[in-house]
Amino acid sequence: MSDCIFCKIAHGEIPAEVVYETDKIIAFNDLHPVAPVHVLIIPKAHLADMNELASSDQRAELMEEVLQATQALCKLYHTRSFNLINNCGQEAGQSVFHLHFHFISGVDLTQKIAAAAQA
Ligand code: 5GP
Ligand code: ZN
Repeated sequence: MSDCIFCKIAHGEIPAEVVYETDKIIAFNDLHPVAPVHVLIIPKAHLADMNELASSDQRAELMEEVLQATQALCKLYHTRSFNLINNCGQEAGQSVFHLHFHFISGVDLTQKIAAAAQA
């Protein structure tokens, strides 16, 4: 999509700090990190959100790629502890409508998650 910021990053048209890449996906540092490690993992092909994953094969292929990326990022950042978050849809907090996963590490979110669950 021509006006999609993450498509532009995927195609190298605007800069990003890329930390991992395959022919299908790319991972780069979030512009406004909420933790010491905050990487966005995106498919290079444009999909607005998870709802656009149309087939079982497409879902399986993407998730395999994403999980391989998490393993590579764990090695890169010397950790086995992370949050992998997908905000799907505006009401869920999605603000960039190109499917992406937040890989967040280096911060203890247990208290915040417990508080959110009780709210
Ligand atoms: P969402 O709220 O859609 O789940 O997450 C979008 C994320 O994209 C946010 O964490 C935001 O900081 C990040 N972001 C938005 N624009 C850019 C950009 O131009 N470059 C990078 N690296 N991150 C961006
Ligand atoms: Zn896009």
